[in-house]
This record gives sequence, C-alpha cells and structure tokens, in this order.
Amino acid sequence: MSAFDAVTSGDVVTVDVLVVGAGVTGIHQLYRAREAGFSTLALEAGDGVGGVWYWNRYPGARLDSESYTYGYLFSKELFEGWEWTERFAGQPENERYFNYVVDALDLRRHIRFGARVTSAVFEEGTATWLVRASDGTVVRARFLVAATGVLSVPAFPGVPGRESFRGIAHHTGLWPDEPVDFTGKRVAVIGTGASGVQVIPVIADEVESLTVYQRTPNWCTPLSNEPISAEQYAQLRADFEQMREILNASVSGFLHQRDTRKAFEDGKQQRWARYEKMWTSPGFSKVISNYADTMTDSAANEDWCRFMAEKIRGIVTDPETAEKLIPRDHGWAAKRPPFTTDYFEAYNNPKVSLVDLSETPILRVTETGIDTADGPREFDIIVWASGFDFGTGALTRMGIRGRGGLALEDYWAGGPRTFAGTMCREFPNFFFPGGPHGAAGNNPRYAEDQVNFVADALEYMRERGHTVMEVPADLEQKWNQMVEELAVHSSFGEASYFYGTNIAGKPRSFLLNPGGRPKLREAMSEVLDSKYARFLS
Ligand code: NAP
Repeated sequence: MSAFDAVTSGDVVTVDVLVVGAGVTGIHQLYRAREAGFSTLALEAGDGVGGVWYWNRYPGARLDSESYTYGYLFSKELFEGWEWTERFAGQPENERYFNYVVDALDLRRHIRFGARVTSAVFEEGTATWLVRASDGTVVRARFLVAATGVLSVPAFPGVPGRESFRGIAHHTGLWPDEPVDFTGKRVAVIGTGASGVQVIPVIADEVESLTVYQRTPNWCTPLSNEPISAEQYAQLRADFEQMREILNASVSGFLHQRDTRKAFEDGKQQRWARYEKMWTSPGFSKVISNYADTMTDSAANEDWCRFMAEKIRGIVTDPETAEKLIPRDHGWAAKRPPFTTDYFEAYNNPKVSLVDLSETPILRVTETGIDTADGPREFDIIVWASGFDFGTGALTRMGIRGRGGLALEDYWAGGPRTFAGTMCREFPNFFFPGGPHGAAGNNPRYAEDQVNFVADALEYMRERGHTVMEVPADLEQKWNQMVEELAVHSSFGEASYFYGTNIAGKPRSFLLNPGGRPKLREAMSEVLDSKYARFLS
C-alpha cells in the first residue's frame, strides 16, 4: 500500500482528506491533497468523472467558456498533453478531457464511484468527520471537502402528473449514458434556458415534431463556435504563460477584454455596426467586451436589446413566433444569457412549434402527454430542461451536521453564509470550493483559487500541528456583507435563478460572488498573510 492510500479499518475508511465529487473542482482538490502527501479519497455519485460534464450529456451540451480557458491551467504539461478540437467543446470532448486528466495524474485509484454521500457528521471529540455514502461506504476524515458543484441538483416544475407519463422522459441534467433515439418521435422540450436552447436545434431535424414549452424567452445570441486549427493551437501553446496571466488578472476569468467606450458616445450607425460585430463574436465577449455601460445604463442596455430583437425578427420567418421569442421582462444579462447555435433558425423548421406558457400554462402531465390551457398534446419523449437548485442544492441535501449537530440547511435557512464561498462557521474542517458565493464567471478559474486556498491551509495546519480550522464570525459576516452590497450592482435581477427564485420555498439571496475574482483573491490573501490568525485551534 502506498503512503497515499486510504486506510481501511473494520468497515471504516480513514483518510486525511475526503473529497466529495469528481467534477472539475473535486479532481483538482484530490490532486492537490494527494500531491501534498495526505491520504485522500473521493466519493462520486456517478459512475464516471467530469461532474456536470458527466451528468449533462444531452444532445447539444457544449461549453460556452473557451475550452482552453476552462480546463486546468496549473500544469503546463497537462495543457500540452491535450488538444481541444473546438473553441467551445461539446460534452463528449469535455468528458474525455476530464478522463484524460484523471489518468494523466493517476487519480482514478483514489475515486470511489457510485457513492453518493448521505450524511456527514462532525465529531467534536476527535475533530473528524464521519461520512456515509449510498453504497455503504463509511469514511472518517480529518477534512471534508465538498466539491459538489452549483448546478448538480436538477429541478422539475411543480406540475401535477409528471411521474404518470408513460413515454420517455429525461432531465437534461440527468441524461442517460445510452443515446436517446429521437428519430420520428413526437418530442416536447420544457424550458428555454441555456440547456433547452442547446437541445432544440440539435434534435429538430431528427424528430417527427418538436414542441417547445417556453415560459420566458431569453436573450440568446450566437455562440460562434469554430474548430481550432493547428496554427491556432501552436499559438495557444506558445502563449500559455501569457494566457494564464491574463486570466488571473481578469475579474470574471475570461480572456475577453473590457472596453471603456460608452454606447451613446457613438451614433446609431456606429453602434449598430459595433453590435453587428458583437452579435457574431464568441460567447461571453458579448457581455464583457460590449460597450462599457451596456450592463450599467438602462438606455444602453435597451439599445443593445433593440438590436437583438431586430435580429430575432430577421431570422424567424413567422412574425408571431418571432415576437414570442423576444424577451420583454428583462434586459441583457439580467438573467444568465445563453449562447446558441442555430437556435432561432430552428423555429423556421416546420416540425418545430412554440407554446407560450405565459398565455397557456401547463395544467398537468398525463400518461400520454401534456395538457395546457389550450388543450392536450401527445408525446413520445419529454425533455425537462427546467434547470437546477443552484448553488446550495447539493450541499443542503447531504446531511451535513456541524458543531452540536447543527444542520447546514438550518444554518443556511436564510441563504448561504460563507467566507469566500469556501467555508462557513460552525462547520470546522469543512470546505466547499466551487460552491455558492464563490464564482461569477468562468467557474473553474474561481474554483482553482479556492482549491489552492484549501490545499495551502491544510498543509499549513499539518506543518504547525493544528487540528481544527474554522472561519471567525466577523470574516464570514464581512464576506456576506460584500455579497449583499455588491449584488445590487450585479446585472442579474431577482428573477434570475442566481437568487434561488426558481425553487419554491428557497430563500431569496444572491448566490454568486459579485466581487469577482479580485475580491476572492483579496480575501484569501489577507488570511494567508495573517497566517490564518483566528482560524486555527
Ligand atoms: P435554467 O436556465 O434555469 O432554465 C430553466 C428553464 O426551465 C427556464 O426556461 C424556465 O423558465 C423553465 N422552467 C422552470 N420551471 C418551469 C415551469 N414550472 N414551467 C415552465 N417552465 C419552467 O436552466 P438550464 O437551462 O439548465 O441552465 C442552467 C445553467 O446551467 C445555465 O444558466 C448555465 O450556467 C449552465 N449551462 C451552461 C451551458 C453552457 O453553454 N455551457 C449549457 C447549459 C447549461 P423561466 O425562465 O420562466 O423560469
């Protein structure tokens, strides 16, 4: 047995560091822990690695952060050993990438698959966590790191009869391994967020009919994906260090550069020419590199929205459908904008029709289909593209119990309370990199900061012989205050799921880090500089 392997005694596995989740963040945390010489184990509910890229294997699932900025950048060797084929890689390629990383770093032997954590209890006497999983695994760990992700608990609309449907039904976030055959099938897609609008154009040609159930339209714009040529790849490799520097300095973890020009400094003709460029520019550049005031000045925002509405009217040939696809209730980036490939074009396919749920709400799902206020429709397949319990969904369902048996879901009853989206008071030696309050952009870049913070902290404790780490109350409060104060300056409105609005009974609180990467790094550096003052006992 190697020094890094977990020790099994009786039925209990004892490790220094238990990581929950083998997705983007968990893989990195597992690596850092193993490299530091801690005994470590990861429990993963799925049968493979990749997290969201394991579960969201629906047709059309694809990145909208540039692939090479989304992957791991801590190792140049790892970067050079992989070649992304597209600027925005699809799910199969992403899943292959995470498998490549796990094998290149020899991490698979530390991961137990098919093990969903059902309870995690902090025992004050030994200052350890006793963790149980669905496969019967019991682990005693000094440190518990829940890398369970922000988009890992699928949400279904509370419409009656969902379970009674006798056809095939899948949520995009729980898509099966074996391909779903849409050929000649009558298909319903419910939801037009980033997932729904990716599925729709990809299956539109295969189906007999595709009915899209839309409650609220989103501001969709072209993703502008393209293959990465050999020359571009050579350049990316040559620019690796520089790219890492730019990403590290970026507020949101993207390469896109900000512009200082304001919208109305230009006349309409110039603005429209600029918007035309924006429309076809890749992914999040439309958010970051647009006019500087697009998201802060309502007139500038409306101007860009007018341009996009014209685009939609220009693409969708049926004027009535086009009008239904134009958002009226929110401006640009008040909700997370989806980036799409041929989405609006799909509505010109005679097989595709749109049901506007604001006019005819879903009444029930039946054995054979869906009833709305304008009558029943029969389907062979229903695709639930209805979103997730964002941010806190997984963490509050794992049976996590801190000091005195305090339940995490109770501690967070009014919304998450965190320090740097990484740890919270009353739950010592517990970390949740990649969790709520942590990110507001290209997630892996933020999670990387958090993973490093956690790994450094654990090493420091080991060196100095400390056994318990817990965030001081005032620092947790300070982070929450920052979140609250800056949330109002974020473009996201309260109708966005970033406030938990899509989940019945969930407290309304901002679940992102509105201070961006600079605030995250600043808060963490302060703790490091203070040598974890007041964090340790
Ligand atoms: P989402 O953005 O929350 O969209 C859920 C959709 O379901 C919305 O259209 C929503 O309508 C609809 N819906 C929810 N409850 C409903 C009900 N009771 N009746 C009718 N419709 C209902 O979820 P998502 O599309 O899965 O995307 C979630 C996040 O995952 C994205 O924002 C993104 O961060 C990530 N994602 C990323 C990519 C990518 O490009 N890389 C792709 C997919 C997902 P309302 O808007 O009216 O609530």
